[in-house]
Amino acid sequence: MPNQKSGNSKMPQSLTAPRYTEIATFMRTPIITDPSDYDLAIVGIPYDGAVTNRPGARHGPRELRNSSSLMRTIHHVTKVNPYELCRIGDGGDVRFTRIYEIEPSLEEITQHISHFHNAGVVPLSAGGDHSITLPIMRAIATNGPIGLIHIDAHTDTWDEFMGSKYMHGTPFRRAVEENLLDPKRTIQIGIRGAQTSSEGWDYSEKIGMRMMFIEEFNQLGVEAVIREARQIVGDRPTYISFDIDSLDPVYAPGTGTPEIGGLTTIQAQGLLRGLRGLDLIGADVVEVSPPFDPSGNTALVGATIMFEILCLLAETISKKG
Ligand code: MN
Ligand code: MN
Repeated sequence: MPNQKSGNSKMPQSLTAPRYTEIATFMRTPIITDPSDYDLAIVGIPYDGAVTNRPGARHGPRELRNSSSLMRTIHHVTKVNPYELCRIGDGGDVRFTRIYEIEPSLEEITQHISHFHNAGVVPLSAGGDHSITLPIMRAIATNGPIGLIHIDAHTDTWDEFMGSKYMHGTPFRRAVEENLLDPKRTIQIGIRGAQTSSEGWDYSEKIGMRMMFIEEFNQLGVEAVIREARQIVGDRPTYISFDIDSLDPVYAPGTGTPEIGGLTTIQAQGLLRGLRGLDLIGADVVEVSPPFDPSGNTALVGATIMFEILCLLAETISKKG
């Protein structure tokens, strides 16, 4: 059932059912049949055909849906209830028809996200590997280059890998080249881990992105990082891309390219809560890889980060009326 447009509450009835019941949609929201009934779509992008090493993120959306049934409705710090602010539904999974070909697969992601964007619905996507962010940006950066708050152990600004320009280490370089992303309005937070070449770091620096290694993050502290991130993206349209490997593998081991010495969950939550009121036009949580997550904790962490971001997006949507 679509959410009710009128009345005091936009809360879907499915949110009051026992949390172990019903089909596991994202956050127990209704499945979207008509985008015009909704303001925000949580979309699954089960694709990991563009990883460098350990695959498995194609199983991310299903496990994130399952773990997201543990989420409730009122944020315990901000007191935001996203379901009171806007109409939220599950936008289904991208239906891939050519999974062995990267570029056509990315095109199918763009089509699925455009379906919502063109109806004025803001997408919160669950990956999938990080290659999915480029086609999302192609769908939503329709009024010029956007700003980006990118939380990740890696810059994902390589030029290519094994002859492919489109893989999970290159989306933000392609996005700059395609004029979808403004590098001067981009901050990359949590960068770390040895590399075989410095080309990603070099590109981010050369093109004018604010690249913040984890050591600097810890030195500055969360509040100072929030101030700088807000200043960099300003009050113009901005996207949040959250790679689960930004977190320390203690919290999120279930990912393809883990790097120790990462963010704590508390730091990540604090950082996200500092981003209220920005002009957010979409977000994603990527690289949750259930085959490497036997305890299921990475999926729980991913679903909780999605809830944090959902609250931010819902507030922005409600202020735009
Ligand atoms: Mn990444
Ligand atoms: Mn990463």
